[in-house]
Amino acid sequence: MSTILQVRDLEVQYQTPNGPAQAVNGVSFDLAAGEFLAVVGESGCGKSTMLFAIAQLLAYPASQTGGQVLFDGVDLTTLDEEALRLRRWRDISVVMQSAMNALNPTLTIGAQLADTCRAHTTWDDKQIAERSAEVLAMVSIDKAHLSSYPFQLSGGMRQRAMIAMALLLEPKLIIMDEPTSALDVVAQKSLMRQVETLRQKLGFSVLFVTHDMSVVSHFSDRLAVMYAGEIVELGETREVFDRPQHPYATGLMEAFPSLLGQAKELTGIPGNPPSLVNPPKGCLFADRCPKVMEICREEAPELVANGPHSVRCHLVNPKVRA
Ligand code: SF4
Repeated sequence: MSTILQVRDLEVQYQTPNGPAQAVNGVSFDLAAGEFLAVVGESGCGKSTMLFAIAQLLAYPASQTGGQVLFDGVDLTTLDEEALRLRRWRDISVVMQSAMNALNPTLTIGAQLADTCRAHTTWDDKQIAERSAEVLAMVSIDKAHLSSYPFQLSGGMRQRAMIAMALLLEPKLIIMDEPTSALDVVAQKSLMRQVETLRQKLGFSVLFVTHDMSVVSHFSDRLAVMYAGEIVELGETREVFDRPQHPYATGLMEAFPSLLGQAKELTGIPGNPPSLVNPPKGCLFADRCPKVMEICREEAPELVANGPHSVRCHLVNPKVRA
């Protein structure tokens, strides 16, 4: 599979009254055409900020302070607003966390789909109407709802309408920022199945952020676990679920229930993430890690690749094991 997205050493800072906070710290990964990569981690770990940086949608007080975002070989960080506008929706589209906030409450779904078409294509009204009905059908919404306002749709339908909008111009990559977080579990499952069916059929890639790993466990090809602005583990989803190697990833796996196998007691991860304004020396997880060693407080671990699986922990660093 060809690579469509290469993120290299991405750095994002937030300006705060106490100084800059390093929200994304040296994040690198590749995404293949048609691949589904899920990014998980607790609130505030930088996963949504990273998505916004990739989509070049950061706004003050956040700013990208380093790194590259190569889409089809072109570094998006070097493009001006107009060049980015031409790529948005056509190459990359974004589905936001809450459709109720992302959709305009004063316009019908049809008017909002038409707005996007007019801003990015030269289609006439007939073509716009046909394509709008077509993408709504793709997400199982009757075209009668083209004349509905967002408040007239259920939460699940609103999120599906957002996905329909994201599909309008057949992008190669759809970025999804917790699109299921406001839905009940039944609607979550249904939405995820729909995304998966469309991905198989249309071949787009998905970059999906969530704090709820059960949402992506059956759908993503690979899983990236983020902590304090860094990727701490990245690998095939099944492998990370079955054999997590980073103590934080292990803690996350033990913090949510499984439908299969024996019932187990859920455990949380004690403590809080470190300050991103004055981060501690060494491993950022050290204060919460049950396996912390002396070296962890002195040296920051690198993300070490072992085949397709990468882990940022001194436990898997051969120098420490030796
Ligand atoms: Fe724990 Fe040390 Fe690994 Fe950090 S480097 S996760 S503190 S064992």
